[in-house]
Amino acid sequence: MAALLEVAGLKKHFPVSQGVLLSRLGKTVKAVDGVSFTVDEGETLGLVGESGCGKSTTGRCINRLLEATTGRIQFEGADVRKLRSKQLKAYRRDVQFIFQDPYASLNPRMTFGEIMAEPLVIHRVGTRRERQERCKEMLEIVGLNPEHIHRYPHEFSGGQRQRVGIARALMLRPKMIICDEPVSALDVSIQAQIINLLEDLQKEFGLTYLFIAHDLAVIRHICDRVAVMYLGKIVELGGWREVYDTPSHPYTQSLLSAVPVPDPDKQRRRARIILEGDVPNPIDPPRGCRFHTRCPIAQFPICCDEEPPLREVAPGHQAACHFAKPFPISEDRM
Ligand code: SF4
Repeated sequence: MAALLEVAGLKKHFPVSQGVLLSRLGKTVKAVDGVSFTVDEGETLGLVGESGCGKSTTGRCINRLLEATTGRIQFEGADVRKLRSKQLKAYRRDVQFIFQDPYASLNPRMTFGEIMAEPLVIHRVGTRRERQERCKEMLEIVGLNPEHIHRYPHEFSGGQRQRVGIARALMLRPKMIICDEPVSALDVSIQAQIINLLEDLQKEFGLTYLFIAHDLAVIRHICDRVAVMYLGKIVELGGWREVYDTPSHPYTQSLLSAVPVPDPDKQRRRARIILEGDVPNPIDPPRGCRFHTRCPIAQFPICCDEEPPLREVAPGHQAACHFAKPFPISEDRM
């Protein structure tokens, strides 16, 4: 079966506009630098990594909020980068976006009803009355009182606003939703509620998610597969169980070692892998393996001379490391 979304060799380089020398030299920030993955219908793929690794830029290129520099994006077999006017509008109807910040993403001058009806107005769906009914219905589905349709965002908590953000994304009955850190601005107790809501909605509407997060603990609960990004590239990709139980790339291992375990005894016994140094500058990423400046097991000269390709370490589980091998740590994490 063909994937719903296929991304191949995606790159997004931003020209450097600050600093006379850098802009004259034609330097670019390589935010996304050759990313490839697929997302099947009904699946949730988690895209994880530290801030600035390129995960949100990848999501925005897929939704055409940003134009990719190069690479292929196919949705239901159509070349997304070639879509124009009407076709692009139809694509955006099918692929919706949930933004990270429920405070900034909702217009404070509009009521919840106006915010949610906006996509219907843009796509000329229904009469005014039908739109209002649909807003009420959707508010109920996301666990809010339909009477809130006349209220303003400032009257509600972050969790309630994010529910409205989710309701807005669902108004056009999309096939896929790109969730860009939808819970990272929320309290931990509210995060669980929103994740549960997203899971319920996925079952009810048969949705496909690309779930972007910096926290591996959050996406464990919702993802079928996980792609770990570092400095614009995917360094590990696999089923969530394989990636969580047997991480094969040193970067994934260090991220997972920082995830707290609910058992205090196990937590005390766990060895935390602390990475040295800062994330390198994406204007001038390191040669060879991009992780070699921080990798605790780097070997020279191979790690700084040769870029490791993403290769299979187990069926359906890939890692981009010359020495990748599954590293069992499941007992600590469960
Ligand atoms: Fe570390 Fe070398 Fe593997 Fe890169 S290729 S992750 S530097 S061991």
